[in-house]
Amino acid sequence: MQDLLTEIAEVAKTSPDKGQVATYIPELAKIDPEQFGICVATSDGNVYSAGDAETPFSIQSVSKVFALALALGKVGDQLWRRVGREPSGLSFDSILLLERENGVPRNPFINAGALVTTDTYLSGYSPKEALGELLRFVRSAADDDSIHINEAVARSEIATGHRNFSLAHYLASCGNMNAGVDKVLGTYCHQCAVEMSCRQLALAGRFLVERDDMPGLVSKERRRRINALMMTCGHYDGSGDFAFRVGLPGKSGVGGGILAIAPGRASIAVWSPGLNQYGNSKLGTEAMEMFAQKTGWSVFGAPQF
Ligand code: GLN
Repeated sequence: MQDLLTEIAEVAKTSPDKGQVATYIPELAKIDPEQFGICVATSDGNVYSAGDAETPFSIQSVSKVFALALALGKVGDQLWRRVGREPSGLSFDSILLLERENGVPRNPFINAGALVTTDTYLSGYSPKEALGELLRFVRSAADDDSIHINEAVARSEIATGHRNFSLAHYLASCGNMNAGVDKVLGTYCHQCAVEMSCRQLALAGRFLVERDDMPGLVSKERRRRINALMMTCGHYDGSGDFAFRVGLPGKSGVGGGILAIAPGRASIAVWSPGLNQYGNSKLGTEAMEMFAQKTGWSVFGAPQF
């Protein structure tokens, strides 16, 4: 495993096309695109890493996995009255389907759906309390109390996030927003601004690995369902391509991080800031493809324990 990760990091570092760093959040535009890290936390308790695996990055939409777990923990299946479970086939920040589908976002991983999950775990709390809850969840999943929110990134997104504000206002106009647009957006942007290294993210992802000895933050059934949504919706309109190339549930973020789960085996985090045409990490996707090919790990293959 260690040799494989070292090889993947070497291939990534020498790749001529590293994709484009997100620029619509000004703080993210400053990130050096030459960085690459990967970390694997296996179900038998080993941790392997290569490249810049200790460098914290903005997890952005990877946070939607933790937000979904929190929202489901709070309201259970009632969440599905407010958000769907189908891929949208559109970019992460699209508003197109929201009008046609009466303000019920397609899934919890596009921005509109994530605003609903944030609204759900925020409901009845102040943003500070809700974010405290989110940090508690992530820190306990990773077993690392140093995980924090980058305030500058959160502010940078709040100051420029017209698209997300319009999504939130549209949801509010359809009666699918309870806590108020400003509070939800503030909480959402702080949630997206959580920083983690590949090592921390891989450790945090273990709650989705589905082994009886993994941290029991969510029930077995919920774990399977979150994994299913990661597979079908975790990479937006690139979800089919990620399933085809990698074959593992995954969630990407515009900070260049990807969390992928090999059920029963491992949680894998990869990071490279340059994005592809879908807004998913370009080298991160390529690295995950190489990883899946070399290990043979895929939810579509026969298990080889
Ligand atoms: N905070 C980002 C946004 O709402 C997250 C998007 C992403 O990572 N794909 O635009």
